[in-house]
Amino acid sequence: MEKRNLLDLNQQELTELLVAEGMKKFYGKEVFLWLHKKFARNIQEMTNLSLKHREILEEKTYIPYLNLLKHQVSKIDKTEKFLFQLEDGNTIETVLLRHRDQRNTLCISSQVGCPVKCTFCATGQDGFVRNLRVSEILNQVYTIERRLNKRGEKLTNLVFMGMGEPLINIDALLKALEILSCEEGICISKRKITISTSGIVPAIERILMEKTPVELAISLHSAINEKRNRIIPINKAYPLEDLSAVLLEYQRQTKRRLTFEYILIKDFNVSEGDANALAGFAHQFDHIVNLIPCNPVSETGLERPSEKKIERFYEYLKNVRKVNVSLRQEKGTDIDGACGQLRQNQRKK
Ligand code: SAH
Ligand code: SF4
Repeated sequence: MEKRNLLDLNQQELTELLVAEGMKKFYGKEVFLWLHKKFARNIQEMTNLSLKHREILEEKTYIPYLNLLKHQVSKIDKTEKFLFQLEDGNTIETVLLRHRDQRNTLCISSQVGCPVKCTFCATGQDGFVRNLRVSEILNQVYTIERRLNKRGEKLTNLVFMGMGEPLINIDALLKALEILSCEEGICISKRKITISTSGIVPAIERILMEKTPVELAISLHSAINEKRNRIIPINKAYPLEDLSAVLLEYQRQTKRRLTFEYILIKDFNVSEGDANALAGFAHQFDHIVNLIPCNPVSETGLERPSEKKIERFYEYLKNVRKVNVSLRQEKGTDIDGACGQLRQNQRKK
């Protein structure tokens, strides 16, 4: 019989497994603490379990880990990028962003590749392989948390902005969120967890139904359907009207401010008409709009606008259209740690 992966289980499933192996119910909580609060790497570390119980667990279960293949640190801003290998040999990337105010944000991948295939995105160019398992999502967090703890630091924020579309891997995502935010685990509040999405409407409805009020960042990039269709193919299935309807409901129920990401692409989405459409869209909500000059990805041929154009677009939104807007500088550009530059395969040189 195949061994069960302990990190794929929530507390209830874990308890059921232990009880089925003849252990008392309260061990469910004990083992959960070992896995999700003390980040045990092997079953022998669980010293308050009898040798016999540890033996049973060794025989029937295992604790998976991620194999660190490569670690890079940005000389510019100390951003760290990790390349991990999964059990089946696929690779994913995770990025640690250090902020001056002691906050440490981990940028997590949710899939190997991405099926949405946005035209500007390096991950999208690589095609889609598979969803990540719950344990693979959690282990990105736990591997880095262990490293930080050794230096007396910890993770304070999580963003699902790495590789993949988290809302297409919604089952694993919801389970991972439940475990990450629970008191007996690493206990990162849902207010400190941001899901970035290209706008998968039914999955946003699902988050609402399950009452998981996380922070949402919507990758908008154009507020004109015809243009958005061209760069984010999923917009054809979930056009802007459907997206804004579900977001209005999200904001009504959660009272959370919504973040809109808007990458600036030369000669494509930076005209006055684009700014007006963006302003009209954003003003439906309590919002913040992040403008991000796009990172050129070699295959796409897309470029950043000039500094002057970027400045003009920003000033117009801010001063004329009164949009709550910020112009974001990317982190870790020297190690390709910036959003949309993460990809499963190391570039074939
Ligand atoms: N699939 C999700 C989350 C991962 S992508 C999403 O699309 O939101 C994380 C962010 O990187 C998104 O806002 C995405 O639009 C952005 N991104 C992708 N390619 C980029 C590029 N070349 N330059 C700048 N941002 C990019
Ligand atoms: Fe997927 Fe996000 Fe990249 Fe689009 S931008 S291809 S949704 S990872």
